[in-house]
Amino acid sequence: MIRTRFAPSPTGDLHLGGAWTALAAWAYARAHGGATVMRMEDIDTPRVVAGSAKRIEEDLAWLGLDWDETTPPQSQRTAIYEEALAKLKAKGLTYECDCSRAEIARVASAPHPGEEVVYPGTCREARPDREMKRSPAIRLRVPDGSVVTFGDLVKGETTQDVQKNVGDFVLRRADGVFAYQLVVAIDDALTNITHVIRADDLLASTARQLLLLRLLGYANEPTYAHLPLVVGSDGSRLAKRGRGTTIRELRDRGITASEILGTLAHGLGLISGDARALSASEIASSLTPPASWRKTPWPMPSAWAT
Ligand code: GLU
Repeated sequence: MIRTRFAPSPTGDLHLGGAWTALAAWAYARAHGGATVMRMEDIDTPRVVAGSAKRIEEDLAWLGLDWDETTPPQSQRTAIYEEALAKLKAKGLTYECDCSRAEIARVASAPHPGEEVVYPGTCREARPDREMKRSPAIRLRVPDGSVVTFGDLVKGETTQDVQKNVGDFVLRRADGVFAYQLVVAIDDALTNITHVIRADDLLASTARQLLLLRLLGYANEPTYAHLPLVVGSDGSRLAKRGRGTTIRELRDRGITASEILGTLAHGLGLISGDARALSASEIASSLTPPASWRKTPWPMPSAWAT
C-alpha cells in the first residue's frame, strides 16, 4: 500500500509552501487508496516554537488534509537514533570531529541550497584519542564510491557523488542533537513510507538519506518526488525557511480552504484545466501523474502576498 508522510518542522505556522507539499503527499496517497502519516520533525529542539505543532495540525485539518497515523515526535525517538549510530560506529563508519561549531551548527535542520559546504575531511584521519578542542560532533565516514542514483518521480533520474559533493556529513551535532539526515532516513524506513513527496530544496539530501539506509541495512527504500518551490509573486526566492504567506493569514482574510487548495493544485499541475476552487478529495479523484507535475518554481498569487 502507498504510504506518504507530512513532515513539518514545528518552528512556526504552516506556510503556503508547507501546504503545497502536504497537498501533493495527501492527494498521491488518497488517489491510490493509500495512507498518510503525520510526523512532527522537532529534533532540533532549540528551534522549536511552543504551540506550533498544534497550530500546524489545525491548519492541515482546516484545509481538509487528514492523516491516518501519527509517528511519535522525533524528540521522543532518540533511543532509536542512538542505536543506529552505534550500528554505524561498530562498522567503523563514524568518527569524532572537533571542527568549529559554525561549520556544523546547521545540520539538524533540513538544509536549504546555499547553506551547505563540502566537509574537507579535516578530522577523518585524526587520532581518536587526541585531546578534543571542543565537544565533538560525529560524522559519517562516507565510503569510497558512494555514488547514489535514484529515479525521482518528478525530476527523473538523479545522481549524486556523496563523497565529492557533500563529504563526510554530520550524524550528531556537538550539542548531542541528531542530524536531520539521519533521523529522516530512519523515520521514513521505520514507518514504511513508500513515497517521500517534498520540496526540491531537499533533492540534494536524498542521496545522503539513501546512503544511510543502505549502510544501516534497510531494504525498503522509499521512492521520491521533489516538488518545485513556492516563490514570491515576482519570482524572488522567499526567506530561507519561510515559504510565503501563512495559511492562517489567508484564512483570516476570508479565503476558503477550497480556493487555496484549488490554486495550489493548479499551480502544481496536480489537476488539468483552469484554476478553480476544489476540495482535497476532488483533487485526489482527478490527480495527474507526477511526471506531469510542475518542475519550475511557482510564483504565489500577488493577491496573497502579505
Ligand atoms: N521537516 C523538513 C522541513 O520542514 C522536511 C523534511 C522532509 O520532508 O524530509 O523542511
